[in-house]
Amino acid sequence: MKKATCVVLTLIIIALCAMPAFAQKQDYPFIIVSGYSSGNLYENYGTDSQKTIWPFGVGDALGQTLRDFPNFIRCLAAFLLGNGAPLGVTVAVGGEIILEKMYTNPDGSSKYDIVHYPNDPAISSYGYLLDNAPDEINEPELCAYCAEKTGRDNVFLFQYDFRMGAYDCAQELNRYVKDVINFTGSRKVNIFGMSYGGFITGAYLSLFKDTAPVNNATLDVPALGGTSFTRRFFLGETEFCTRSLIALAESLIGAETNLAPVLRNLDLSRLEPVVEAFLKEIREMPLTWGSLWDLLTPEDYTELKPMFLDKKANREIIRKSDIIHYNVMKNYRSNFLACMKRGINVSIICNYVDYTAFGGEKLADMLLDARRTSGAVCSDAEKCFPDSYKPAYTVCANRSHRHLAPSMQIDATSCYLPEHTWFIKDEYHGCYAKDPYGFGLVKTLLFADKRMNVRSDKAYPQFNYSRAPYRSVAADFSDCAPGYINKDGSLVITNLSEKSAVMITAVRMNSVKLRLPARRIIAPGKTLSLDCPGSIPDGHSTLTVYYIKPALGRDIYHRTIGFVS
Ligand SMILES: [Zn+2]
Repeated sequence: MKKATCVVLTLIIIALCAMPAFAQKQDYPFIIVSGYSSGNLYENYGTDSQKTIWPFGVGDALGQTLRDFPNFIRCLAAFLLGNGAPLGVTVAVGGEIILEKMYTNPDGSSKYDIVHYPNDPAISSYGYLLDNAPDEINEPELCAYCAEKTGRDNVFLFQYDFRMGAYDCAQELNRYVKDVINFTGSRKVNIFGMSYGGFITGAYLSLFKDTAPVNNATLDVPALGGTSFTRRFFLGETEFCTRSLIALAESLIGAETNLAPVLRNLDLSRLEPVVEAFLKEIREMPLTWGSLWDLLTPEDYTELKPMFLDKKANREIIRKSDIIHYNVMKNYRSNFLACMKRGINVSIICNYVDYTAFGGEKLADMLLDARRTSGAVCSDAEKCFPDSYKPAYTVCANRSHRHLAPSMQIDATSCYLPEHTWFIKDEYHGCYAKDPYGFGLVKTLLFADKRMNVRSDKAYPQFNYSRAPYRSVAADFSDCAPGYINKDGSLVITNLSEKSAVMITAVRMNSVKLRLPARRIIAPGKTLSLDCPGSIPDGHSTLTVYYIKPALGRDIYHRTIGFVS
């Protein structure tokens, strides 16, 4: 009997070893759909006269700087730091001459024969691109991470012409997913969509909800519902907000600089007309780009369509953008639920900060309104809900779920997916790779081997704050979720820096000063524990940590974090 058991076990082991190596969930090929204007566009592609049309070529340095919007901001930052040449060139040479090839026909198609790098899986894996076409690689930190996890030839970069609307790009993504499946022999793919890429992915999941062979779909700061900025762009109402620029530039530089003191003595007002003129000039060109139309909110689209588009000449743009606004955007919840019913794990990450890049009051991640990204009810930027605020409960009415952000700025009960939407306060648009927490969340969702919700991993609650080194300090109560008060615990202040010490000069909770220990210098990555303040009222509280970074001089900075008990 014993011998028989051994034989059976041995046979089972042999059988298991001999089984074909079916792809584990973690081994699904990865498709990365990157953000707006991040891909290259070419004229006469593959011929001797091939020319890069986007990013446009006014010298390599400038071309590189203008590669995408964040780089454009970096270029502006250089101007602020005293190097005005790149921006001067941009404005002087910019406009119609440089951008002529970017014009589109009244039907939204390209006026010239402009193409992106081919979406052929054989030549668009991360491994192939590293060796042969490194310029086509976007989201390099994520690519490198995914390559480490699943192999560099199992990570694929989808390319698209960012002038085209989400409808066209979603059709192209559908073909690419099928091609990657055929190429790799896998049953499914994992998809990461960033910003406009998240919008394309959302449109793809909506339009192909019954067939999309997807395992995990992680949409990071996706432009799902458009954004109020687009309307302002169309109407030439953009304002230039210096404070936002400084903050975003700091974040993009990503280190631990603090530009504010450097900029304090500069006359920033001279910059504002330059940028406004640039934006006004550039806005004429994309009026027949499907993407710009799709990036309007449904309400703004309905209002602006008759003002700018001709029913006959622009019929195709209207037809496709109608589908996006009146079909896709209106039905994200039911579309995503249909996907999830088929086993697709859809996750959304929404960032928000208290600035907007180009004016306006909407709570946004600098560019995209948090409400449109997530479906949540949001306060205006720099405001919060009153203490008496009652959640909407329009999508999730479960009173035991804590869908109200400790910042009192987000009510997630009305999200497209209240249980699968994560919010990161103080994190700018597209900056996940600069924030260990944000990047950790992306990695966790992308590689999850089961469906995650906002309660399934304590390390990744629905609401958290950026832990980017640039944010210098974080504050949490021990043994509870970020932003929640544990009256029996202590207050833990963390130095987020990787290399500089911080000295805490004061901590105030609801304007009450907390007692600090004698030793207030925190080494990089270390923490300082304070006794829990004695009298914390129920409801919303505001904690402000004041600090000095000795490496940056004696200036006192502060970070304010909202808490609820
Ligand atoms: Zn819920």
